[in-house]
Amino acid sequence: GQCAVHCPVGAIYEAHGSRKIWDRLADPEVTTVVQIAPAVRVALGEEFGLEPGALSTKKIYTALRQIGFNYVFDTNFSADLTIMEEGTELIGRLLEGKGEIPLFTSCCPAWVDYAEKNCHDLLPHVSSAKSPQQMMGAMIKTYWAEKAKIDPAKIFSVSVMPCTAKKYECKRDESMNSSGFQDVDSVLTTRELARFIKQAGIDFNSLAESEADNPLGPYTGAGTIFGATGGVMEAALRTAYAVITGSELGDINFVPARGLQDVKEATVNVKGKDLRIAVVHQLGNVAAVVDAVRASKAKGGEPLYHFIEVMACRGGCVSGGGQPYGADDEVRAKRATGLYTDDTKSEIRVSHKNPYVQQVYTEYLGKPNSEKAHHLLHTHYVKRPLYK
Ligand code: SF4
Repeated sequence: GQCAVHCPVGAIYEAHGSRKIWDRLADPEVTTVVQIAPAVRVALGEEFGLEPGALSTKKIYTALRQIGFNYVFDTNFSADLTIMEEGTELIGRLLEGKGEIPLFTSCCPAWVDYAEKNCHDLLPHVSSAKSPQQMMGAMIKTYWAEKAKIDPAKIFSVSVMPCTAKKYECKRDESMNSSGFQDVDSVLTTRELARFIKQAGIDFNSLAESEADNPLGPYTGAGTIFGATGGVMEAALRTAYAVITGSELGDINFVPARGLQDVKEATVNVKGKDLRIAVVHQLGNVAAVVDAVRASKAKGGEPLYHFIEVMACRGGCVSGGGQPYGADDEVRAKRATGLYTDDTKSEIRVSHKNPYVQQVYTEYLGKPNSEKAHHLLHTHYVKRPLYK
């Protein structure tokens, strides 16, 4: 609260924030739930001596339960949900003229903040889909609370993120309270979770593995690659291709989107039409792409790109501001490889085939981009001054 705004000493804020969470965990009146982001599972282990990229998902679930969380969910599930919403939005814009092209992704709050301050002319191009963190928050206090018969007023919802900007995102505007409560109550970074585990005296490396809770836990390979630059693009293409053509991509590995090159470009042929995509990461590389889009709009005719993924951190969330310190490109690549391994090992690798995502639509949301989905899973952007 106050400390976050006024106190330049991160340690004091972190200590303050963690006391609040320990208090909620100890309160028998409160149901505590937690979600973990894709990139956490390939980096947290570094705090306990594991190699960068080592997958420790199922030990993290166990650690969270031992810390005292009542339910453990996975942001990878809501990454699949994001693909359904954002993919449908992309298809609507491409085929039905429902909005501006190119479409920019919106799951990185640091990019959204940059766009609201620096790209007023391009805000209609930014996807209205909320980020996976916020979609999960909304689903926990509505769909899941109803299903589990728990009063949402008594749910304390925590997320573990590779990202410091996510602490700002959960309070960004009133659409982050779509459940009638603040959808995500508190955000811990990967480093902070490591400290929780140490404070609780848990021997991380000897933990047994466990599974996340249903139905907001199980995820596909497409959900897990969100944590690496190009991953959202690849996951979206897998689903958009299937929805537009009615058949699955022969090879679902979309290699041109991967890797640490500053700006990645590719063309994908979808039903005889060329879809031009770009992936940019590290905020310093974004202005050039934005300027190229502006120039192409001014010129008119065919758009330069149809779909653009933007991540503020180099390498994407695998080296976000909340991850274990000391990432260089070698570490970034290893963490990304961990996520691609998680993808390859997944039985289901496309978001639209996640049976629990399908269940959310049949039981609750209707279909992607429905009115209810818009209320809970979408946001809007405002023009903000650079300084105020
Ligand atoms: Fe956060 Fe960086 Fe990921 Fe953006 S790219 S969501 S700032 S960790």
